[in-house]
Amino acid sequence: MQIFSSRLWQTNAILLETGGVTVLVDSPVLPDELAALPRPEVLVVTHAHFDHVLARSAFPDLPLQAGPSTLEVMARGDWEQELRDSDEELYVEREAWPSLDGAERIGCDLFGVVDAPGHAEDGIALFTDDLLLCADYLIEVEIPLISRAGSVQQYLGTLDRLEPLVRRATTIVPGHGPALARDRALELLDLDRRYVSDLRGGPMRGPESERQRRIHADNVSKHCS
Ligand SMILES: [Zn+2]
Repeated sequence: MQIFSSRLWQTNAILLETGGVTVLVDSPVLPDELAALPRPEVLVVTHAHFDHVLARSAFPDLPLQAGPSTLEVMARGDWEQELRDSDEELYVEREAWPSLDGAERIGCDLFGVVDAPGHAEDGIALFTDDLLLCADYLIEVEIPLISRAGSVQQYLGTLDRLEPLVRRATTIVPGHGPALARDRALELLDLDRRYVSDLRGGPMRGPESERQRRIHADNVSKHCS
């Protein structure tokens, strides 16, 4: 397994071989990072946030797989405006624009698949015997982010579903930041469950930074009415 971590938000693309197929899960964000990726055989995305769906800009001919809820959200196309806004904000120039046309529903031939909504309205986590790709959960460098379309209840349900998978994994790779060993992933799972269960209680971990304070304030304003 190889992890390509973007200079933006440490968004991870994970290249691995499973079921005899080379798969790239998610994407880095910047054009030079996308251009430098080794060519896989299949692309998979964990959820429809714009910073995870960009691999098709490097490999427009490859099959693209996602969970059913992600297929719906990708087809709505919100990610395109989000990507445009982000690129404008950061002065990123992108010659190759991804098309997500023809994306297919992921089967269970390559990975075990578990629903993982809450951070977003859609999402899946993927696992093999000793590896868990947990999408935007259990992130060392970021407190839980519950987007407007996400939900506290769904977030907690996803953590419950992830817990047994973390317990049997040796390596846990989230959608951002460093890969984790099981013990640290279980610590984060516990901390994040407590944080999301009581959002008003405030961040209980993570870097003390303006960005993390803003994520916390957004969580509270969107999900504590
Ligand atoms: Zn996300």
